[in-house]
Amino acid sequence: MKLSYTPHTLYFKRPFKIAHGMRTSTPIVIIELEHEGVIGYGEASLPPYLGESHESVFAFLKTASLIIADCINPFDLDSLLNEIDLLAPNNSAAKASIDIALHDLIGKLQNKSCWQLFGAEKKNTPFTTYTLGIDEPDVIKQKIEDGRDYKILKVKLNGENDKAIINTIRSVTDKPIAIDVNQGWQNKEKALLMIEWLANKNVLFVEQALSKNNLEDARWLFERSPLPLYADESIQRFTDIHNIKDCFHGINIKLMKCTGMHEAFKMIKRARELQLKVLIGCMSETSCAISAAAQLSPFTDYADLDGALLIKNNLFDGITFTDGKITLNDSPGIGVTLK
Ligand code: MG
Repeated sequence: MKLSYTPHTLYFKRPFKIAHGMRTSTPIVIIELEHEGVIGYGEASLPPYLGESHESVFAFLKTASLIIADCINPFDLDSLLNEIDLLAPNNSAAKASIDIALHDLIGKLQNKSCWQLFGAEKKNTPFTTYTLGIDEPDVIKQKIEDGRDYKILKVKLNGENDKAIINTIRSVTDKPIAIDVNQGWQNKEKALLMIEWLANKNVLFVEQALSKNNLEDARWLFERSPLPLYADESIQRFTDIHNIKDCFHGINIKLMKCTGMHEAFKMIKRARELQLKVLIGCMSETSCAISAAAQLSPFTDYADLDGALLIKNNLFDGITFTDGKITLNDSPGIGVTLK
C-alpha cells in the first residue's frame, strides 16, 4: 500500500490572529496524507518559544515522507510512528502532524471515528475550560461574558496581580476556575501561600506553578498543597512521566508536545496506572488538531481545548461544544472537514 504525501502550509502568509484584540499569531502547518483519493488531515502548531518553525517542519516532513511513501502497512502505527520518531530528536509538532493525519486517514479507510478506534465512550467527554488571559479588569469581565456558555474558566496568573485578577473574576462569577501559572511563581513558599489563598475560591487545580526543571521544589509544593497540582511544561512525552510522578497530582498532555494521538493515548494509560489525573490541552490550533485531541478526551478528567475558539481564521469544521461540553461527531477519522 503506497501513501502519497503532500505537505503544504495554508497559513504561511496569513498567520493566526488570536481573537479579543490580542495582537499575536502562531504559525501552523496543515498536511494532507492521501491514499487512493482518501485524505487524512494533520496539523503542526508552532508557538515560537517551543523552537519549531515552518522551515524545521518542512525539513522534517521531507525526510519522513520517504518512510511514509515506502510504508507497507500504515495500520501498524506503533512501528511506523516509532520509525518516524527516530529520524531526529524533538520536532514534536512536525511528528504530531503526521500522527494526526495517519489517524484521520486510517479512520476514514475503516469508516470509523478515531474515538471508536480508541474504544472511547462518546458521552464521556469533559467540559472544556475557557481561557482568560492576564488583562485589565474590564477586559477580564468582557471575556467572562464572551465565554458565558462555558462552565469552567482557565485563568492565567504570573505572580504580579494574581489576587486582583481572582477578585475581579469572583466579583462577577462563581464558576469553577483552573489556574495556569506557566512557571510564573518564583518561590515555593510564596506559591504555597497563594495556593492556600485560592483553596476556598472554587479553584479546581493549579497548573505548572514553578519552573519546569525545579522538580525538588515541585515535590515540596506537592507534599503541602491543598489544591491538586498539574504538570505542563515539566512533562513533554511518555518517558517524562516517570520523572514527575511524585511531584504532581496530574499531567497536561498536549499533542504538539508528545508527538500526537498515539503517544498521548499511551500516556493516559500510564498516568492512570500511576493514579495521576489527566488534563488534555492544546496550543493555538485550528479545529483539525483540536478535534484530534478531543477524540481522546473521554479518557481524561479535564480538557483545555478552546484553542480554535480563540482564533479568527479557523480552516476546519470539527468537534463542537454544547454548553461547553466537548461534542464528538460520528464522522470517520478525527471528524473534520476543510471549510
Ligand atoms: Mg499550561
